[in-house]
Amino acid sequence: MRFPATVLPIALLLAVPVSGMDFSARFDALKATATPAQVYALLYALPKGGDLHNHSGGADRAEWLFAAATDPARNGGDSFYTRANFGAQPDAIAPAERFRNIRQHTYELLSPAVRAEFVRLDDLLPAERAAWCDSLRLDAPGEGRAEFFQVIWPRRGQLGDSLPVATEMLVENMKAFGAEHLAYLETQFGVDGFVTNDGRAIATEEALAFVKQRLAQPDALATGVTVRFQKTILRFLPNAEAKLAESYAWVEAHRDLWVGLNMAGIEENGHGYPRRFLETFRSLRARFPTLPLSIHAGEMDGNDSHIRDTLLLGATRIGHGVNLLQDPDTLLLLQQTRRVLIEVNLISNRLLEYTPDLTRHPFPEYLRTGVPVCLNTDDRGMWDSNFTDEYFTAVKTFDLSWSEIVELGRNSLAYSFVQPEVKAKLLVDYARRITTFEETYGEGRLADALAKLAEVQPVTYGYSKRTWGLEFR
Ligand SMILES: [Zn+2]
Repeated sequence: MRFPATVLPIALLLAVPVSGMDFSARFDALKATATPAQVYALLYALPKGGDLHNHSGGADRAEWLFAAATDPARNGGDSFYTRANFGAQPDAIAPAERFRNIRQHTYELLSPAVRAEFVRLDDLLPAERAAWCDSLRLDAPGEGRAEFFQVIWPRRGQLGDSLPVATEMLVENMKAFGAEHLAYLETQFGVDGFVTNDGRAIATEEALAFVKQRLAQPDALATGVTVRFQKTILRFLPNAEAKLAESYAWVEAHRDLWVGLNMAGIEENGHGYPRRFLETFRSLRARFPTLPLSIHAGEMDGNDSHIRDTLLLGATRIGHGVNLLQDPDTLLLLQQTRRVLIEVNLISNRLLEYTPDLTRHPFPEYLRTGVPVCLNTDDRGMWDSNFTDEYFTAVKTFDLSWSEIVELGRNSLAYSFVQPEVKAKLLVDYARRITTFEETYGEGRLADALAKLAEVQPVTYGYSKRTWGLEFR
């Protein structure tokens, strides 16, 4: 058992029912005999806990964005344009300008010559539409960290400041995760920076009311996914300290939906290092009650003290933690205290080239030496992947045992920042769902279990097809 004593009361542990069935041997037999497609189906059907490391925006699939951005009933009656024509000198256009997206109010301000370079999303020809979708994900050889940070994010452009579109994407993610049997989504989402169709800033409380109303609609509720938010600041900006203070106050005032605070953005450019924020965090802690912190750290190629420094900032969850093996004192601390969880993002780390060879990823070392970990999707829309792809990667690369799989899901709930009473319910529900799963695939002969997998219909995307040749529909 790896429950952190500081996170869960003992009474709660005793309340979690333990399955009577030993499913471990059956799981090993399934891994040994099932085809890759059957293993994938099994992991798709697997009850999952929470996705604790998820960026709204990066999580959005291009096809979902296209559908919402071209539907006035879902996009608030706006029109979106993308820069798809480049006249005589296409090579002179910066990569981030290709398929950069703008809204109607911006389009109207352009000169006729520049306007001619933009195409209304609805008017894209089928091949252009496919290219537009591909422009928002890492799907081609050679696309990696630079494409992700410097091209794809800027290219999204004003798709990101439409409140209706961002909110629709939240619900699309809930639907897709719900289908994958995820119970909890703790996504990095804010309501600042949205603008109206005529380009005026939307007040945060007004935006919040809109989001709450959408989350209360029947289709969102039907997903069964509990959603909470983290407020995230970009650590490398010149005004990041002020943004941190502002965000801290926002979370404190909206703890029903926002349960924690995060700092994201590339660590390696000399502007976003953790020590920079130590004094700011200390002054905030002098003014506000405890606020849970999950902070990106150690998403680096080389050796540094970022994870240790981030613990000093007060974080109880570390995003990525890729270079922890190079800091043995801090690794030992995490192994011994088991108080801090590392949010592992396997596909992200592979595609952004922090661990291009996943057999060398530190995840199994953390998992098997007592550092609490869970699996997460990070920017799944831009990876063209889903949550099952993370589990399939982990099982295939590290031969996870059944107890390890159950532990990953349990950790993702136990270390979530959701309110204690909701957490207790999610954990009890997780144990119940795992028991049902064990019964479904554990009873009868192995052949019966394999036959049942034919009933599972995974929804998969480009990542599983390109990486393993797995395509279900
Ligand atoms: Zn991240």
